[in-house]
Amino acid sequence: MAITVTLPDGKALELNDGATGADAAAAIGPGLARAALAIEVGDPNPNPTQPAGGSPIGRSEIGRQNPTPAHPAELRDLARELPDGARIAIVTEKSEEQALALIRHDAAHVLAAAVMELWPGVKISIGPAIENGFYYDFEFPEGVSISEEDFPRIEERMRAHVRAAERFERVEVTPAQARERFGTEDQDYKVELIDDLVKNATGAEDGGAPLATVSLYTNGPFTDLCRGPHAPTTKSVGAFKLTSVAGAYWRGDSTRTMLTRIYGTAFFSKAQLAGYLERVERARERDHRKLGKELGLFVFSDVSPGAAFWLPLGASIWNQLVAVSREMGSERGYTEVKTPLIYDAELWKTSGHWGKYRKNMFTVKVEEREMGVKPMNCPGHAYLYASQRHSYRDLPVRYSEPGLLHRNEPSGVLHGLLRVRHFAQDDAHIFCTEEQVQEEVRGCLEMAFATYALFDFEVRLELSTRPAERIGTDEMWDKAEEKLKSALDVQGLGYELNPGDGAFYGPKIDMHMTDSLGRSWQLGTVQLDYSMPERFDLTYTGADNQEHRPVMIHRAAFGSYERFIGIMLEHYGGELPLWLAPVQAIVLPISDPFNEYGATVRDSLQKAGLRVELDARGESIGKKIRAAELRKIPRMLIVGEREMQAGEASVREHGKGGARGPEGRVGSVSIEELPTAILGPVEARKLKAPRVNSA
Ligand SMILES: [Zn+2]
Ligand SMILES: [Zn+2]
Repeated sequence: MAITVTLPDGKALELNDGATGADAAAAIGPGLARAALAIEVGDPNPNPTQPAGGSPIGRSEIGRQNPTPAHPAELRDLARELPDGARIAIVTEKSEEQALALIRHDAAHVLAAAVMELWPGVKISIGPAIENGFYYDFEFPEGVSISEEDFPRIEERMRAHVRAAERFERVEVTPAQARERFGTEDQDYKVELIDDLVKNATGAEDGGAPLATVSLYTNGPFTDLCRGPHAPTTKSVGAFKLTSVAGAYWRGDSTRTMLTRIYGTAFFSKAQLAGYLERVERARERDHRKLGKELGLFVFSDVSPGAAFWLPLGASIWNQLVAVSREMGSERGYTEVKTPLIYDAELWKTSGHWGKYRKNMFTVKVEEREMGVKPMNCPGHAYLYASQRHSYRDLPVRYSEPGLLHRNEPSGVLHGLLRVRHFAQDDAHIFCTEEQVQEEVRGCLEMAFATYALFDFEVRLELSTRPAERIGTDEMWDKAEEKLKSALDVQGLGYELNPGDGAFYGPKIDMHMTDSLGRSWQLGTVQLDYSMPERFDLTYTGADNQEHRPVMIHRAAFGSYERFIGIMLEHYGGELPLWLAPVQAIVLPISDPFNEYGATVRDSLQKAGLRVELDARGESIGKKIRAAELRKIPRMLIVGEREMQAGEASVREHGKGGARGPEGRVGSVSIEELPTAILGPVEARKLKAPRVNSA
């Protein structure tokens, strides 16, 4: 008897009946047999035709090496028997994320094994692989509390299990046997998990077949209730490190026991682990919450979770960005409006937010009326538009407002400036005719690119189409999606299609940037909305003297100012571009007698519109330079006897030492030339051509 399996390249492979994944790998080649970690086993009888609708060309497809199979494959241990006719693919280290997740799950078992040896009586719960690593949740015996100081000895024990190359042995037992086993060991969490598996087994509820078996995995002295799969032995965990410890409620339920969660990460090699730890360290150094504190920009407090308290220097950055939006907007025919923060629930019912978005809104009762604090400016702007009469001659109407917004984010997801409850957006809404849509979308993209040109990052575009949860008719959506597509195509702009990720009121073009740590962020957006004009019964009088429905466009480049500042602080590591730096230059007198001259230099620069400070403390010049360097102030202007006599200042650049004047001239610069010497690069930046990928 023989079985036949299909390899990824479509070739058939004949194997003896009862052959395992390991046998298949060995049949292909001895190298693969050594490298094999697990095996993907696909449906033996795959439907030869693709499911209806075909495969969408979306983000998930980008970078994929193989086309998506018609039926998802299951990842299994190499030691399991292969079914006849299966499609198989051997998983090795080269399978990257999939292989990493596998050995990280292995490492979680190794961690539990080590912890059980060190703390007899510890109760184990669950230990999955997660993004960038793994964790295991434990209930330690009374009086034991674990800290990072315990990591070295846990890691030492873990290393012993890895060195021993313990086999992961899988056995299937009845739920009763598993329950008996973990029950006698007082592993209450495992017993609860088994009971739930039995309860949730398909069929059991409506009198069908109960759960026949559960799988256990054993490596060395440790056995866990586990679905698997695992690599053949513990030695695939080439390098690992425990990273942190935290409290975690059993099953995420705050009424249940608080367990101790130990986090770690694992890689195939020490070099990979070292590279990862270095990236983490760089990100930690650049954490905007740390920089915000060190540079004196903002503070957070539990008196208002998710809301920044901006110090003067941070407020300066915020105001600069608002100024950029105002300037860009006024050059492009936007007019600024101001709308209320709190509205009657009726307005939110009209806009659709009360139904779809209410859980993210703060609500208040005022004189028995239910009111909602605005999470977006759009309904206010729509209401404002409706309050006036409009003729086709007035269109497009472009309302902008850096309006204060509140969103009720759960406290668990709040994260510095990146996820807040209180923020403002460079938000604007355009009301235009159907014929004007394409040109307006083009204008929105142009304004966004001009904004991004002030920074050094590249922009990627994504077109997001109708989500499952939406308002409006399919006809509206067809029209709106088509308009955005053609606006992009006409300009020859490259973009990714992101099906199902549109806003609930319309499709959108999102703009993304990749920061200096290689992370991708969504920033701006252009959203087409045929729904809100209907809901608010917005009209304009056409040339035919009839009432018509305008189209509404939502646009932003920065998105939330708060979040954008957080992203930029991390992108630049706190060294913001000169034009945005809250303090652009600091005057450093060599000693007290030159403080008065230093003040003159500062005043003349402030008059020229620069943000300049004077360090008149009685400290040495070396100390003053070090302090200014730590504050990441772009330019230091050193003044002493020679400079005072000549009416000059010596220019020093942050991080570069030395001195540089206009046209890169090194040395001292006269007071008259200083503003140009400092502002030069600012203007140069503003003139830099917008960068965007084209098709
Ligand atoms: Zn497991
Ligand atoms: Zn809007």
